[in-house]
Amino acid sequence: MDDSVRRHKYMLTEDEMPTTWYNVIPDLPSPPPPPLHPGRMDPVGPDDLTPLFPMDLILQEVSGERYIDIPGGVLDVYRQWRPSPLFRAHRLEKALGTPARIYYKYEGVSPAGSHKTNTSVPQAYYNKKEGTTRLTTETGAGQWGTALSFACALYGIDCEVWQVGASYDSKPYRRLMIEAFGGRVHRSPSDVTDVGRGFAADPKNWPGSLGIAISEAVEVAAKDPNTRYALGSVLNHVLLHQTIIGQEALLQMQMAGDTPTLIVGCTGGGSNFAGLSFPFLREKLAGRMDPRILAVEPASCPSLTRGVYAYDFGDTAGMTPLLKMHTLGHDFIPDPIHAGGLRYHGMAPLISHVYELGLMDAIAVPQTECFAAAVQFARTEGIVPAPEPTHALAAAIREALKAKETGEETVILTALCGHGHFDLAAYDAYLNGSMVDEEVSDARFAEALETLPQVVG
Ligand SMILES: *Cc1c(COP(=O)(O)O)cnc(C)c1O
Repeated sequence: MDDSVRRHKYMLTEDEMPTTWYNVIPDLPSPPPPPLHPGRMDPVGPDDLTPLFPMDLILQEVSGERYIDIPGGVLDVYRQWRPSPLFRAHRLEKALGTPARIYYKYEGVSPAGSHKTNTSVPQAYYNKKEGTTRLTTETGAGQWGTALSFACALYGIDCEVWQVGASYDSKPYRRLMIEAFGGRVHRSPSDVTDVGRGFAADPKNWPGSLGIAISEAVEVAAKDPNTRYALGSVLNHVLLHQTIIGQEALLQMQMAGDTPTLIVGCTGGGSNFAGLSFPFLREKLAGRMDPRILAVEPASCPSLTRGVYAYDFGDTAGMTPLLKMHTLGHDFIPDPIHAGGLRYHGMAPLISHVYELGLMDAIAVPQTECFAAAVQFARTEGIVPAPEPTHALAAAIREALKAKETGEETVILTALCGHGHFDLAAYDAYLNGSMVDEEVSDARFAEALETLPQVVG
């Protein structure tokens, strides 16, 4: 790479935007284990899922096709903010004094300020096509709720959101953004669902969790034939929609004349990480490049590094199919850290499977290190990151500093999956010194695993 050029931004034209999503499953050495029906304990079929999802999304969930066409109507909406920019972090590199080259794909340019619109738009589109009049969902930090509320506004669908209590209390501006787009927000656990009333009875559940909020949204969708449920991460079809990120990034890295040696992303449920890394995993499996693929999770909710690989419920009340995934147990209530989008007890079955196959690595990082990285990033690159991708930035900085020691050629690619404009309270906590790193005891992890469902085989 000729550094005298010092190009900062790599942009694709609208015509260069990929028109298919990439499904990694046919390229893997083995397929991931199927979801199981919680009562029958056999693989779920499409009929089991129709109360919750439209058929187009169910078919994508189980698809064996390598490429799936993005509908024209969805491409039209994507073009409002896609293709998204790829930046070379020259000023951060200089501040670190590293020979490593650092690139970041920025998804904060979307109307919701994160990557979540890449899937909320197609999910609302397919639901509209099938006559859905209302969508229910959970939201943690509020990014997914914002993205779905925006997409529902485009297609004239009512949107009802259960927001995790801790985030509802600490992030009023995300709630207001959801409401500005027309969505209705409940603090979870709420008193408008049976499961919510049950959980609210125990003060331990008062901060809420993504697992509880999912149970509430699923209950409402299951009871009404015109209402369906939308999930913002974890499931195959969600990861699929996010692959537009990595496919664009592949083209942009070509423009930069560079090949990543490390792809690093934050993982809550795994969707932005999969979206960036799966197209590169395709290239790795085909022997065309060999990047290390690294997931970064919060130390207080480390499903890959400290969870078990087992069948578990996707929600806390045990209403969803059983998913084979890395899990901390569906009863695990993570500490209310600032990266609300990473407070999920499980990891996407597809990411968990790729991890089990040994095709990627994972580490956990405490939040104060993440915010130190975020502040350094903001002061050099000029973007205030969402609390979630600060985990990836902290790991990227660790690796860039390592490259300084070893002199090994290091080309880092990361997803800056959202901006932090509504998360400034978290920056306040960091800057005024009140942010702490809570150690989670082995006993607490062990306790939550006691209630894993028993699955034979
Ligand atoms: C939702 C969210 C996450 C966590 O979800 P993934 O599915 O793991 O991507 C991370 N970052 C941002 C900005 C989010 O909105």
